[in-house]
Amino acid sequence: MDKEDCLFCKIVRKELDSEVVYEDNEVFAFEDINGRAPVHVLVVPRQHVANLEEVGELPDRVTKRLFEVASEVAERLGVTEDGYAVRINNGRDAGQEIFHLHLHVLGGKRLGMP
Ligand code: 5GP
Ligand code: ZN
Repeated sequence: MDKEDCLFCKIVRKELDSEVVYEDNEVFAFEDINGRAPVHVLVVPRQHVANLEEVGELPDRVTKRLFEVASEVAERLGVTEDGYAVRINNGRDAGQEIFHLHLHVLGGKRLGMP
């Protein structure tokens, strides 16, 4: 997948609309278009990497920021106390649809393991 054609790269570049929850120079967070929980936000690096096999291409501080932003988003949206899940779908069997690494932040209801 070329980053020119990547849906999440287009969202990060604001060529496509999204409900932005957080952004800085390295990390971008937006509402999932098909939310599966009262809180369902996607946290992505601005830099295009497809999946965890490419995570080493990100600077270490960006990888760290992804998790910090997931936590900050949860706090801002009020699910820190009750808890939330941070999920990465990686590859076919996990149902990965968009090949730009992203963390799902899910909360606001009881979440089970599959
Ligand atoms: P994956 O299955 O790759 O882990 O998750 C991709 C997620 O992206 C899905 O939850 C899907 O609802 C979401 N998504 C797909 N297209 C768009 C879009 O155009 N805008 C937003 N905000 N989310 C999208
Ligand atoms: Zn991308």
